[in-house]
Amino acid sequence: MSTVIDRKTQPAVENLRINGERLWASLMELAQIGATPKGGVCRLTLTDLDRQGRDLVLKWARDAGLTVTIDKIGNGFMRRAGRNNKLAPIITGSHIDTQPTGGKFDGNYGVLAGIEVVRTLNDHGIETEAPIEVAFWTNEEGSRFVPVMMGSGVFAKAFTLEHAYAAKDTEGKSVKDELTRIGYVGTEEPGAHPIGTYFETHIEQGPVLEDNDKTIGVVTGVLGIKWYDCTVNGMEAHAGPTPMALRKDALQVATRLMQEVVAIAHRHPPHGRGTVGMVQVHPNSRNVIPGRVKFSIDLRNATDELVDKMDADIRAAVARVSQESGLPISIELVSHYPAQPFHPECVQAVGRAAEKLGYSNMPAVSGAGHDAVYMARLAPAGMIFIPCKDGISHNEIEDAKPEHITAGCNVLLHAMLERAGVV
Ligand SMILES: [Zn+2]
Repeated sequence: MSTVIDRKTQPAVENLRINGERLWASLMELAQIGATPKGGVCRLTLTDLDRQGRDLVLKWARDAGLTVTIDKIGNGFMRRAGRNNKLAPIITGSHIDTQPTGGKFDGNYGVLAGIEVVRTLNDHGIETEAPIEVAFWTNEEGSRFVPVMMGSGVFAKAFTLEHAYAAKDTEGKSVKDELTRIGYVGTEEPGAHPIGTYFETHIEQGPVLEDNDKTIGVVTGVLGIKWYDCTVNGMEAHAGPTPMALRKDALQVATRLMQEVVAIAHRHPPHGRGTVGMVQVHPNSRNVIPGRVKFSIDLRNATDELVDKMDADIRAAVARVSQESGLPISIELVSHYPAQPFHPECVQAVGRAAEKLGYSNMPAVSGAGHDAVYMARLAPAGMIFIPCKDGISHNEIEDAKPEHITAGCNVLLHAMLERAGVV
């Protein structure tokens, strides 16, 4: 009997499209919880508002016939059975916590796109070979509790559950207490959940797709990052009596290195990034020659090899500028996040789906972290980007077009179906 149904449904699968209006309506409804006057959302992790958001998403999941599992860090998994439930599920997800001045789409889109995929499969009575699951991860934003990407990080064993539980907010409240208070300490061990493939749909949070007038970003990976503290030691002296030739001006020397940071990024295109975002000038006085300058350096690129080349370049620049200026300069690596390429099969599945659906698309890299980074350590993973207005996110004015929201979800649907198998 199943053979008969299969022959009838097979052509329909190719023509399957999600219901964009329903997805948009769900996004707008979820955005009411913690809505800000400027049109954004403030739904910090493990607050009462987060609980209300979680409750609403789980209600939608149960209405769609999904079974719900919560793990000990509060990650939620909403499961649609497949024909062969011994297969590891094809999972999609993201997060529903936001920044204090967050938008409606960051994270929320990835979770609700998953719910919409399930609703679409239900509408058309389509079974998949492997089960399908939608996940939300606890505290992706890291705004209230550090570290960021907490739920997916515990799941991927990047750090322990105890470490996450012990994290405290500025009022001294712990993750464990707040998770317990909102009723989201589940029973499953984090990481005990199998993953066949992981996809995450997300707004780009950058300007590249919009600048290239493309609908879909086929994400090939997430940039590797090295963070440094750099200190130039000079000598404070009076700005008036000290002639130019006899100064040890730490700021003037530091600015040469700051220019180097940007030049190094330009020398490693197209994904090289170099940023000085934090500068401390000592003593920071109008009429004193700066005696010490400490500044941050953020270097990024698409592969570890390229990040290492940029690392070698900045260290060489420090040595050269120190020798030329005669001032001691120290550079210290304070954080390192390896580049995370996504699985070729997942990248191709996203690209194929975009092509098949007739959406303009281009390869993209993610400059920001996502839960998918941790999932990529555990299973084949990939991401789908859609443009957001002016590339802006982590801002109440964050915006995305309904047609892009729909397109990204259609790509997700077809990429998931390819991986889950429709017999
Ligand atoms: Zn996000």
